[in-house]
This record gives sequence, structure tokens and C-alpha cells, in this order.
Amino acid sequence: MGRVASVHFLCTACERRLGREAGEPSQPCEHCRAPSPVTAPPVGSIIDRCAACGHDQLYFQKDFNRKTGIALVVVGSIFVPWTYGLSLLGVTILDYIVWRMVKDVIVCYDCQAVHRGYPANPRLQPFDLATHDRHVYGQAPPGAE
Ligand SMILES: [Zn+2]
Ligand SMILES: [Zn+2]
Repeated sequence: MGRVASVHFLCTACERRLGREAGEPSQPCEHCRAPSPVTAPPVGSIIDRCAACGHDQLYFQKDFNRKTGIALVVVGSIFVPWTYGLSLLGVTILDYIVWRMVKDVIVCYDCQAVHRGYPANPRLQPFDLATHDRHVYGQAPPGAE
């Protein structure tokens, strides 16, 4: 696919989704023209800070966007007639291959900005509900006070 590294984030003024590719200069929001200093880090950067808000708590997850979902359905429908008669093992291997094709994206806990096309940062953990709740509810868990 040859994807360019990019960051997708919400405009702080109108909360619509914006995208910037690596190498692209910062520019105002395309929707409301509010100034936005955000640029995507250079290709190959290790992401340890959110490119949109500077927050340092990030997680990674599989990049299951709509396009990937459609691609999986297409791949699945191509292989179904062949895998039908195969053992469960064959289907499991196919699942694994498809899973490997789906790359990870790095997401900000604070502003949900998505960093796509960057190398994995070994310091990051998958999505963690407790960390997420701390961001949504503040330091104390709900009901603790
Ligand atoms: Zn805007
Ligand atoms: Zn952020």
C-alpha cells in the first residue's frame, strides 16, 4: 500500500477531523480556518508524545478503520471457497496472516489523535481501560470520593 506516515486529530475549535502527512507544513483547519500548529512527525520517528497535544500517554491498537474492514471482507470472500473444505488450522493461519497485514496505529489517551505509519514504540502498551478512565474521570476513579 505504501502508506505515508500521518497524524489524524480533531480541530480544537470546531472538533472536526483533520489529517496531516509527514513533510506537510502546519496549516489552519480546513473547516473553520482556526490556526493549528500540528504537523506529523518525520517518517520513521518513534512516537513517544502526541503530535497533536504533546501528551505523553499513548497506546497502540490495530488499525481497524472502515477501509481495512472492507479489505478484510474482500479477502475473506475470495478465500472462503478455498478454505471451506480445509481444516480449522488453515482458517486459523489465514486469520493470522490477515491479522499481521493490519498495522498498529498509536493513539493519544488524551485527545485520541491517531498516528499512522510510524514504527512501533516498544515502550507503549496496548489500550488500557484503567489508564483511559483516569483520563476521562480525572485522578480518582468514579465513586472513590
Ligand atoms: Zn476547525
Ligand atoms: Zn493528544
